[in-house]
Amino acid sequence: MANPFEQALLQLKRATAVRSFDQELIERLTYPMREIRSHVPLRRDDGTLQMVEIYRVQHNNWRGPFKGGIRWHQQTDIHEVKALAFWMTLKCAVANIPMGGGKGGATIDPKQLSETEKERLARGWIQLMVDVVGPQKDVPAPDVNTTPQIMAWMADEFGKLTGDKSGAVITGKPLEQGGSEGRGVATALGGFYVFEALKDRLELPVSCRVVIQGFGNAGEHAAEFFSQAGHKVIAVSDSKGAILLEEGLDIAELAKHKAQTGSVVGFAGSQPVSSIFEVPCDVLIPAALENVITEQNVDQIQTRVILELANGPTTPQADDVLFAKHIPVLPDILANSGGVTVSTYEWEQNIKGEHWRQEQVFDKLKRTIQREAVAIFDRSVQLETDLRRAAFIVALERLQQAQNNRS
Ligand code: NAD
Repeated sequence: MANPFEQALLQLKRATAVRSFDQELIERLTYPMREIRSHVPLRRDDGTLQMVEIYRVQHNNWRGPFKGGIRWHQQTDIHEVKALAFWMTLKCAVANIPMGGGKGGATIDPKQLSETEKERLARGWIQLMVDVVGPQKDVPAPDVNTTPQIMAWMADEFGKLTGDKSGAVITGKPLEQGGSEGRGVATALGGFYVFEALKDRLELPVSCRVVIQGFGNAGEHAAEFFSQAGHKVIAVSDSKGAILLEEGLDIAELAKHKAQTGSVVGFAGSQPVSSIFEVPCDVLIPAALENVITEQNVDQIQTRVILELANGPTTPQADDVLFAKHIPVLPDILANSGGVTVSTYEWEQNIKGEHWRQEQVFDKLKRTIQREAVAIFDRSVQLETDLRRAAFIVALERLQQAQNNRS
């Protein structure tokens, strides 16, 4: 698989070919400010010791503390975490929130861990990172395979080690531990708001046929929002396989099926499909991992628009094919920025000792993300470029400004 950090830098280069920027700005953003690799000595339940490699990449903090999730996955490595940290810098600038970019990880398959082993790994991660994270330094959050419960263990460990019990060190916590209303659904809801803001400009039908890869935090909630709004979610997939139901899936029932069986596969009435990307639809939503829409499969895609809830799902080569075919890609750094936006609201609530109502959170998110979505769309028209390059350009202008203000 292509190195995701190299792909991310290629995206940067492609955007700066449309609108030029100070070379020093680009040079600075090409290198993360700090990369940390360490190993948690994880005591397994059977008494054996497993050394688990962990990471934190602090890409850039000109606009505020580093911010970004922690991924636990067997294929996670430093290149992936660097790419994700880089995208966080751009994303926080697109969302116009006072945060920089960071990302963390652990190379582990959490499906192999018991709950007590997960707790030891979460606490071990914080013990090794305690000097570099903190409410004004670096504020992690959930990502693939990490949950509010894992965030709660991490926040608790940080409180024990430092005495800071505000919870502002980490977001995506359960409500009882200082989490924000709406954080659990924020990534998907933000993506849905982006879709709604641009639906008419993209000339989409009133009721769209929607296909989603990934049925976790981002994918499952996206399925809920789209189907509640009258669209038809006809196919979804997870790591075990993909299913299709042309009449539209009942998402509440599907969620129950997934909770009971551990997968969407085998859902009553559905038929298995070998490749989710070949299902004809109006909106295709990658909501799993990066580098899944590539030169190899892009020609099979039959959609009117792609809404990227996953980070980095489309390679630059596939971007070019899609642009040539007039299939707009609503890019990750805009489309999934609802997660980090509400995470920032959580951080702000913790610092101020406040608790905002869900309605307040959703209103604020909707206004912010829709304003940025329309601005990026208009910019892409003005520059005659794709939405990803336009989003990069908006982010780079804000980063340039932040850098100028500091020097
Ligand atoms: P998650 O762990 O909750 O869910 C991941 C889903 O992807 C699971 O359903 C898993 O089965 C599925 N999956 C894994 N490999 C797959 C494959 N090969 N084919 C199909 N499905 C596969 O993770 P999440 O938080 O929903 O994150 C998904 C994506 O969204 C990631 O790229 C993440 O970086 C991005 N994202 C998440 C957030 C957030 O707030 N959670 C915010 C921004 C971006």
